[in-house]
Amino acid sequence: MATVTAAPGPSFRGRLVRPGDPTYDEDRRVWNGSVDRHPALVACCAGVADVKDAVRFAAGEGLPLAVRSGGHSFPGHSVCDDGIVLDLSAMRGIRVDPEARTVRAQAGVRLGELDRETQAFGLAVPAGIVTTTGLAGLTLGGGIGWLMRKYGLTIDQLLSVDVVTADGSFLTADEERNSELFWGIRGGGGNFGIVTEFEFRLNPVGPVVLAGPVLWPMEESARLLRLYRDWITDVPDELTTAVVHRRVPPVPFMPQELHGRPVVMVVCCYAGPVEDGEKVLRPLREAGPPPLLDLCTPKPFTAHQAMFDPSFPRGRWYYFKSCDVDRLEDEVIDITAEHAARITSPLTAFPIFQLGGAIRRVGDEETAFGGRSGGHTFNINGTTEGPEGFQAEREWARGLWSALAPYQTGVYSNFLMEEGEERVAQAYGEAKYRRLRELKRHYDPDNLFRLNQNIPPAAA
Ligand code: FAD
Repeated sequence: MATVTAAPGPSFRGRLVRPGDPTYDEDRRVWNGSVDRHPALVACCAGVADVKDAVRFAAGEGLPLAVRSGGHSFPGHSVCDDGIVLDLSAMRGIRVDPEARTVRAQAGVRLGELDRETQAFGLAVPAGIVTTTGLAGLTLGGGIGWLMRKYGLTIDQLLSVDVVTADGSFLTADEERNSELFWGIRGGGGNFGIVTEFEFRLNPVGPVVLAGPVLWPMEESARLLRLYRDWITDVPDELTTAVVHRRVPPVPFMPQELHGRPVVMVVCCYAGPVEDGEKVLRPLREAGPPPLLDLCTPKPFTAHQAMFDPSFPRGRWYYFKSCDVDRLEDEVIDITAEHAARITSPLTAFPIFQLGGAIRRVGDEETAFGGRSGGHTFNINGTTEGPEGFQAEREWARGLWSALAPYQTGVYSNFLMEEGEERVAQAYGEAKYRRLRELKRHYDPDNLFRLNQNIPPAAA
């Protein structure tokens, strides 16, 4: 295990953690417990000056550099062996301007913290579905969640970013300043620099929304998915849904007698008046087989946002395969139902997110994000408590994903594991990938930021 004894500058304000230090094991851990790496140095930055020094230092030492904000990367890109982890998790400042309806958030902010501050004013940024997820990594890949059909991807509300580039310089990017970088950062991930602060536009949400899951027995999956497909063809953009197949988790809001039962659930969030939402949901509730349980009720938006937290704790072993499909064709539905019935781990679950709405109203060329025309995104997730049984869950996830191969239209970069250059290119499509490679050559010609869904610099 390598150790770096030098430090990134005498005035470093944050913490420097090395192998053998009391907090080393905690500081090297990331969300996915199947990732177990040993960096030579974890540089926990306190501010922009620390980030600039740490970037210059890492480049000078010639060591691998991992960048970590929330630590939720599926493949664990935010930690490395024998290199430097540049950790931004102490940079947690948030400032809402309720009059201008904007918010500034530093890179270490978690989604739940952002909601806490913005919902105090009845406002929100559309972001992800688990409160512990880092805002930075999520935003840089695009950002999908419960408000996406109403307010778009997280990047669609992004106004500006502060960035430290590979040579340690600081700049701001927005529609006017460094606009090509701003284009690439909206979907292109951490390839072009380290974002230290984000500025978002805010929109009104709740604070009470009609939201939560409606559950049916898993045996109803094929029938329910057909009904769901027909129902969502003309629902308003206020409604975003995801279909989840899993065994009922032993969480307090699920009745004990259902724990462990295989179910299919339609999870809803209606970002408009509750009465309107009730009307929109009626066909789903009434036309189908009777639900086992209906937890889609009026609740604070922040409560809905936190609902799935207990199902995704830090430290479990997680494996993912993901893809977009345009439509839930009969064949896609049958494949889904058949593979869902084979889930064995009580922790394995897979959401199929409904896309469309505001995501499609932004022009495909306006940002680097590659999946605007997608209909649904499958996030196939095999999970175990530890190594035991993990291989079997991995095989199960791969099996479902392979069966869907003929219907796949793309993939969301933030849902990729370590799957190689071709899959990263697939997330963007040919033309965007080429443009991103040119941008990479300009801002990071030596590929310092390569521990990510990497876009290699275009050849000189
Ligand atoms: P980290 O692991 O800290 O970073 C991941 C990568 O992002 C790094 O390797 C680096 O390349 C880059 N990066 C991070 N911070 C910076 C920075 N400040 N500057 C430059 N690059 C940086 N995605 C969705 O869109 N919607 C969801 O609802 C959603 N739910 C999720 C739920 C869970 C439980 C998990 C684990 C993930 C979820 N994701 C979701 C995927 C998520 O978007 C990615 O895992 C994302 O990378 C998490 O960001 P992070 O800051 O926590 O990641």
